[in-house]
Amino acid sequence: MELRLEIKPFSFHLLKPIQTSQQIITRKEGWLIKLQDQDNRVGWGEISPLNSSEVNQCKKILAKLGSSPTKESLESQIKTWPGPIGFAFGAALAEMNCLIGDGTKQKWLPVSSSAVLLPSNELELLRCLDYTLENQYDNCTKALTFKWKVANYSNEVESVLLQKILKKLPNDALLRIDANCGWNRNQAKEWAQELHQEPRLEWLEQPLPVGDIEGLEELAQYIPVALDESLIKTPSLRKTWKSWQIRRPVLEGDPRILLKELTNKTGYRVISTSFETGIGRRWVEHLAALQQESSTPTQPGLAPGWLPSSPLFNKNPRTVWEAA
Ligand SMILES: [Mg+2]
Repeated sequence: MELRLEIKPFSFHLLKPIQTSQQIITRKEGWLIKLQDQDNRVGWGEISPLNSSEVNQCKKILAKLGSSPTKESLESQIKTWPGPIGFAFGAALAEMNCLIGDGTKQKWLPVSSSAVLLPSNELELLRCLDYTLENQYDNCTKALTFKWKVANYSNEVESVLLQKILKKLPNDALLRIDANCGWNRNQAKEWAQELHQEPRLEWLEQPLPVGDIEGLEELAQYIPVALDESLIKTPSLRKTWKSWQIRRPVLEGDPRILLKELTNKTGYRVISTSFETGIGRRWVEHLAALQQESSTPTQPGLAPGWLPSSPLFNKNPRTVWEAA
């Protein structure tokens, strides 16, 4: 079946840069796609890579697709594409085929709460922690959850900061510590020893480099370990990793797979943003809402407060399309 494909580029700056041990993200760029079939059913998608080499790869694939690809050829190619473009077409096909959408059995679900992403600068971090505890603690019905990205400063500096954070953290709040691959085995072991009896630690996220699965497995015997970057690099780990999995729908490829996992209430999945427009965000929120129904509900990582306010982040895909 021949489809009509329209593509529009978008870009935006984050309100403040995100610093990880691997990169500083200040800006996002990508493409929105609109697929339409002969019955005028429409599906929307977003190609939203995090690094520039993937932007170039996606650009080449888009150039070859033309404006009237067939549904069959798209379905057969999705699995072979980089995750961000796989997401866009999987999402658009799902919506066009009425697998999801407000007129279907699977209506878009919103999500109302998120973990708080702490800034990496110490002063700002402590200020954000205090502010959130003062303003959100009493009216938060779920565990107040903070995410802290480490391996940005020396281990000594960050160990001292850890103690300051723990001192402020109420007994029923939770802390996720994300090293973004930035520790070696010795450093990870030191942090695990420090924290393995800490009930407020939710997990250590990607403490070791993507390929050190043996080290990650060993550490996971001792303390909860969430995989993030390893799952993007080696998608088969999504089938085998038993502990927490950080799932970033917009980066990981065809979202119909994750939709099925969460519809089946599979546990230990955490839904996380990779800073997408309103088109991708509908999926992120929907999947995060389904996660709340799983056997292991936990706060999604939606990084509230890092995106500017603009029609590009509207929930109506047509508004997003017009704003790009
Ligand atoms: Mg992470």
